[in-house]
Parts: sequence; C-alpha cells; structure tokens
Amino acid sequence: VNEAPEFDYRARIERARAQLAERGTAHLLASVGSDLPYLTGYEAMVSERLTMAVIPQEGTPTLVVPELEAPRVDDRNGLFAVRPWSETEDPVAVVASLCGSPARIAVTDQTWAVFVLELQQSMPGTVFVSARPISRALRLIKSDAEVVQLRAAGAAVDRVVDRLSSMRFSGRSERDLAGDISTMTREEGSDEATFQIVAAGPNGASPHHHPGERVISPGDSVVVDFGGKVAGYCSDTTRTFHVGEPDSEFNEAYEVVRTAQQAGIDAIRPGVAAEDVDAAARRVIADAGFGEFFIHRLGHGIGLDVHEDPYLVEGNGRDLEPGMTFSVEPGVYVPERFGIRIEDIVVCTPHGADRLNRSPREVAVVD
Ligand code: ZN
Ligand code: ZN
Ligand code: ZN
Repeated sequence: VNEAPEFDYRARIERARAQLAERGTAHLLASVGSDLPYLTGYEAMVSERLTMAVIPQEGTPTLVVPELEAPRVDDRNGLFAVRPWSETEDPVAVVASLCGSPARIAVTDQTWAVFVLELQQSMPGTVFVSARPISRALRLIKSDAEVVQLRAAGAAVDRVVDRLSSMRFSGRSERDLAGDISTMTREEGSDEATFQIVAAGPNGASPHHHPGERVISPGDSVVVDFGGKVAGYCSDTTRTFHVGEPDSEFNEAYEVVRTAQQAGIDAIRPGVAAEDVDAAARRVIADAGFGEFFIHRLGHGIGLDVHEDPYLVEGNGRDLEPGMTFSVEPGVYVPERFGIRIEDIVVCTPHGADRLNRSPREVAVVD
C-alpha cells in the first residue's frame, strides 16, 4: 500500500465554501462517491447506512457517520466535527437539524436517491440542487500533488503491460487473463485493481466487453483495457495484442488507430477546445474509411474517478487548460471481426500533452 500523500484538505474545503458563497448555496452535502474523499480524505462505505458530510458556507463541517464506522474516521486535526449516529437514530433527521431550513442546498451526484428524497421531505422549504458544477470547479484542474499520484498510477499499469507482452495468451480464457491482470495490477504497485476488459477476436468489437469463457486462440487480436488506483487516483490504459503475426488488413487498421491517437495527442494544447481534439483524431479514422467503426468519444477526464470531466467529445467546447488530465483512446470496432483501441492518460501542460502511460504503442505480438 502506498504512503498516503498529504493533500491540503483545508484548502480544498475553503475552495468549496467559496463555490457555495458564489452560488448562494447554504450547504454542500457529500455522501458516497469521490467528492467526500476529495474534501476530507474519508471514503464512505457504500451501504444503506447514511454517511454524509455537511459542509456549510461558514462554520465547522460535520461528518455524519454510522457509529460502527466512526473509529476509522481521521478528522484531519479538527478540520471537521464527527457526529456518529447509533443504530436506533434517524441519520436524515441528524443531517436536517445540522442544516436548518436554508433556501438552497447542493448534493453530490452519487448520493443515494432514497436519502435525497427523505431530506427533501424533512426540509420542504429547501431547494436541492446538483453539486456537479461545484465538484467540477474543484476537481477539473489537478494540482501538482495530484498529477504525481496519477503519474505513479500510470507507471504501475505500464509495468503490467510490459509483463503481458511476454506472456502466453493462446489457450487462456479471457476471464483467466483478466484474473492475472488484476493480480499483476496489485503486484506492480496499485493499491487496488479496479477493472479489466479482455476482449478476444470478434469480442473486441464490443468496446466494454465483459471477459468471459472465450478461449484465446492464434489469429485473435485481444483488446486489454484495465486500471487500478494509487492513493485514490485512477489509472486506465488500453493496449491491443495479437496472437501470432497479424494479417495486412489488421495491420492497416492498427496503423490508422495509432496515427489517430498521435493526432489527438498532437492537438492537445491549452486554449484548444476539447471537441477539437476529438475531431483531430476522428478525422484520421474517417479519412481512412473506418469512420463508422469509431463509435465512442475520444476520451474522458480522470482523477479520483476513472471517468470525470473533461470529456473529449463533439459538443464540448470547453478549452483545455494546464493541469487537466484525461484519456486519449481512439478505437476501430469491426463487428464480428475484431477491435483495436490504444489508450493513454495525458496531462495537459503549457506546452502540450505529457503522456502518463509510456508502454510501447506498436501492436504487441504474443504467443
Ligand atoms: Zn471505456
Ligand atoms: Zn480504458
Ligand atoms: Zn478510458
């Protein structure tokens, strides 16, 4: 397990308060999801027992937490008060009494609907709004300390890719290989392995294929997309392997994807719209005649969540800024034939993209 880095939680909460003031919102309520650990360093257990931080515009925040989970709370030297609730108490009533009856409250987006509905019932005069704009304002631009963790997370999965490229794929099921990847992800320095996609042969044409019983055989291409976490920060990388030497049709498509990914990377610069990076990569694929086979956006932001703002997609006119971190992952998916995807995480710097994944991007031929 990696040493927990010291993030400045006090500064993060101050920035949240500034957002509340700017938006005329009395409190930020943060439950399960990544906003709570971002602000407090505490990650709520996902369960029917309510955990909720009540962060007021002014005054001390309070973490309302099930009594049995209170022992694992670190209050960061009094940064917030802890209010454990016992099994016979109503936690929604506890939160409501901390809030009073303000005009407006923001709720983080993964808070369970059942709690929001109960809060609305007990505070009929209060308007509940999504905290997503606040969350985006806080988390969109990564600090140097955050980029350090994302870089470490990227390097850890790159070491797994290195090991994969000398492994035997043939004769293994997708599910077995996914299990190995999960184990190696932890062995190579991630605190946890979060997901593994292993899609062989025609299964590769389904971008989010769930690894199954299919036995990988000679002539298959294998899309491998996986990630883990280091100190809470996510990795996410994709490489496409080929069992034995690929034919010219596959090679041609692969080179198109590789060129498109490079075109996307080359387009990244502060002041360039997110959708223009998508367009730069998509143009390469369309010009080569594979346009109909690239069926998803070019990329997504990454941080404490594996998918977060900014999204590289047509319609997102937001300009890139230094400190934004996101994936660049074009793909070609030919139904009933094969899939190809190459995915790297990058950080936008003043000079352009800096890749956080450095494993080779040529097709990896395996046995
Ligand atoms: Zn995906
Ligand atoms: Zn991925
Ligand atoms: Zn991704």
